This record gives sequence, C-alpha cells and structure tokens, in this order.
Amino acid sequence: MEDYNPNKIIDEARQGEALVLSPSSKGEGRGEEGKKMFLESYGCAMNFSDSEIVASILAGKGYSTTSDFHEADLILVNTCAIREGAEQRIRGRLKEYNIAKRKNPKLMIGVLGCMAERLKEKFLEQEKIVDMVVGPDAYRDLPNLIERVEGGQKAVNVLLSLEETYADISPVRLDSNGVTAFISITRGCDNMCSFCVVPFTRGRERSRDPESIVNEAKNLFEQGYREVTLLGQNVDSYLWANGKAKKELNLQGFQNLEGFTTFAQLLEMAANVSPDLRIRFSTSNPQDMTDDVLYAIAKHENICNYVHLPVQSGSSAMLERMNRGYSREKYLERISAIRRIIPDCGISTDIITGFCGETEEEHRDTLSLMEEVGFEFAYMFMYSERPGTLAQKKYKDDVAEEVKKTRLQEVMALQQKHSAERTKQGLGKIHRVLIEGVSKKSSERLYGRNSQNTTVVFPKGNHKKGEYVNVLATECTLATLIGEVVK
Ligand code: SAM
Repeated sequence: MEDYNPNKIIDEARQGEALVLSPSSKGEGRGEEGKKMFLESYGCAMNFSDSEIVASILAGKGYSTTSDFHEADLILVNTCAIREGAEQRIRGRLKEYNIAKRKNPKLMIGVLGCMAERLKEKFLEQEKIVDMVVGPDAYRDLPNLIERVEGGQKAVNVLLSLEETYADISPVRLDSNGVTAFISITRGCDNMCSFCVVPFTRGRERSRDPESIVNEAKNLFEQGYREVTLLGQNVDSYLWANGKAKKELNLQGFQNLEGFTTFAQLLEMAANVSPDLRIRFSTSNPQDMTDDVLYAIAKHENICNYVHLPVQSGSSAMLERMNRGYSREKYLERISAIRRIIPDCGISTDIITGFCGETEEEHRDTLSLMEEVGFEFAYMFMYSERPGTLAQKKYKDDVAEEVKKTRLQEVMALQQKHSAERTKQGLGKIHRVLIEGVSKKSSERLYGRNSQNTTVVFPKGNHKKGEYVNVLATECTLATLIGEVVK
C-alpha cells in the first residue's frame, strides 16, 4: 500500500513481525511524578488496543510515555506469539534494551501480552534482563508488580480471567491520527483452531458490556474521531447476556430474550451514535457470521462495506484438520450471502500455506478458491508450529520449508493480481472518503479510505483531516486509487 493507512496496524500486525508502535508525542508529558515509560506493541490490533489500556492504567500511577527508550524508567513490550518469527523478533529487541539497562541499572523491563502468557516464569529464566512478566488479563495489577520490581524482586502475573474486559478503563490513545480508533468488544477466543495459540495466550472468550462500548464510541466522536473499528478475535460470536458468559447459557431462541445483545445489534447501536461516525470491525468468522450482521451493514450507510473473513485454506479436508468448523462450500455460501446482501462489499481474508499434511492438490484448492472469490486483499502466512496447540499435539509439521515458501509465493502472486484488478474496478467511480491525513509521498495530497477499505489519494485543496469528501478516481496504483474531489 502506497500511503499511510491506519489499518496498516491490522495489516502489518497480521504479518506478525513487522509492527512496532511507540507512543505518540501526544501522550508524552502526562505523568505527574516525572516517571517515563516506553511502551512498544507487536502483533495484532488487539495488542495495540491493550497497550492503550496499559497506558491508561499507568498514567494513573504517574507514568508518562516517551518515544525514546533511552530516557525511560520503564520499558514495556507488548508481545505476540502467533508465529515463531514474531517471538524471535521480540527476543532481538530485548537485546537492544539490554544496552540501555547496562547504562541505567534501575531501568525496569516488563514483557506483556501473548508471549508473556505462553512462557510465564520461563521468560525470566530465558531472558535475564526481564523484570516483569504480565499476561493480557493482568494489566490492572501492573502498579503492584512495578512496586515489587522497585523493591528488588522479579514479578509475574499471568492469571487468565473469565470476566476481565477492562470495560471501565478509558484507553489513552497512542500513535493516534485523531480520526480513527480501535474499540475492543470481546477478549479471548473459544474457537480452538488447531494451528492457533490465541486460546492459550488470551484465554476464554468474553464479551464486553454494550453500554460501555457505545459510550466509548460516543466519547471518541465528541473528541473528533470519525471512525471506530470494533475488535475481537471473532466479533460474530459477540454476545452480551446480562453479564453471563456465553458458554453458560442455553442459547436456543436467545434473540427473543430481553437483555441480550448480539453482534448485529451491537453494530446498529454503534452506527446510531452518529451518521458521521464510521464503523468497521475485525475479525469475522465464517462459522458464526450471520445474515443479520450483513443486513445491519446494508441498512446503515456508516457501517463500512468491508468484511475481513479469514478462510485459511480452500480445501475442506484441510479446514477439518485446522478445526475451523466450516467447509469450502460453507465458506463460499457465506461469500455469496455477502455479495447478495451487500453487492459492493470489499472482502479480504487470511491464508496459511503448508499446514500439516497439505498436499499439492489441497494447495491448488486454495488457489481455486481465491480465483472464485477474488479477494480485495489477503494476509498470507507460512504455517509456523506453535507449542501447546492442537496441531502440535496431533499432527506432524511435515511440509518442507521450501514447499511452504513456494506455495506462499504462488498465493501471494495470485493475490497481487486480484488486488490490482479490484483496485482498477474503482476507476471512474465516486468514492466517499474519510480524510485521515497528509499523504506520505506528497504534502500537497491527502489520503483516506473508501467504505471498502481501499486507500484513496487526492489533492489537498482546503480539506482537512476528519472531513468526508467525494473523490472521483481517475488513476490507480496496485492498491491505491488516485483522484479529484467532486461535489
Ligand atoms: N481470530 C482470527 C481468526 O481465527 O480468523 C484471527 C487470528 S490470528 C491473530 C491472525 C491470523 O494469523 C490467522 O487468521 C491465521 O491466518 C494466522 N495464524 C494463526 N496461527 C498461525 C500459525 N501457527 N502459523 C501461521 N499463521 C498463523
């Protein structure tokens, strides 16, 4: 993608290793007691959103953020465990912090998030510079853990919770463009896809009180934000049931019961905050995405016509081994439903190449599914075996590295062709664009995204960040539309 795109947070995070978010200058200078923290996030958008909760908890304890780790009293790394490469990158980064720690022995280093949860106390043994290991459900305990470290001890809290949603914490927005923001709506995951470490690092799925979600959206809108992305590992499985965990309920006929909120209803509640507040969401799941959700998108102009629906593989036998809970046919049926109910919807996906036992024919099934759907965009990965997952226990990671790589290249080449075709289809059309900032390539141009999540670039004129404009697309690159503002 040519120009900066806040969804890059999701894009790059999904590539697993590329994203490093340091606090923005906006958050700097908040602390009253002059203590500085450097907070860095790797991995998915959920992690980024969690870092904003951490920043809020520690701002209450006098910590301001800094974008220079050399001047920090506390370094926190919010980690990702989704693939081996993500973990290696974090270990490399810890070596850099070691230099700062040698200069300042009082510097405290804490590891947060999924890798912390996966490795627990072992992290302290493996990486001597780490003082503190904190899992995703234990951030409220950070002030106590820091005190323990200040007292000369090492500190660990990796307890997972069945209830924690941090619903009452107002996140400090980090690296914000002031226009787009994330709101977490669920935590954890109950899906147990056989390749995935998330259920073990983020715990059981829980939904957040809808009122707190809508209030967060209202507050953001009042502060000038114009787009929120509702986040969860599986947003379609969102269910608020008067505080009861979804799994505790007999769900038959739950739509008719008072006090229950489904994801489709939550989307509508968020859309009703203001017609000028755009709503996006990630990630959808083929086994749970109902037509009700699609009808909610179609009904509200301000719910973006964009669905990220990970397929992982085009082979039903592979999907069975992956424990995805749907077949190729069921996935394609969901795609037909999207196209029928929201004809101009952008659709993106996630694909894994070289999962356990993948035959050449199964790989071809993935390519043929891609041809059938023609995704706007895809996040593509080579399978990386993760300790403790169902796949690691049940199957052999038996596809040679070279084969995984060749298949990934084939999948990427095909996707590039589809992305280019999809972008071209936007030419000659008028796109409603929310302006997110100045183009990286030219200070004379602004950029934003259309409803389908494609980046659109156009001359600045008198327009400003946070405004909506209609842009007639006249040119394009592989993934960016370029045009002129029209009335
Ligand atoms: N909850 C979402 C879902 O299941 O559809 C996304 C979870 S994950 C944070 C994002 C993506 O990483 C997955 O959709 C999958 O394609 C990829 N992924 C997860 N585990 C992986 C593994 N062990 N090796 C390679 N890619 C993996």
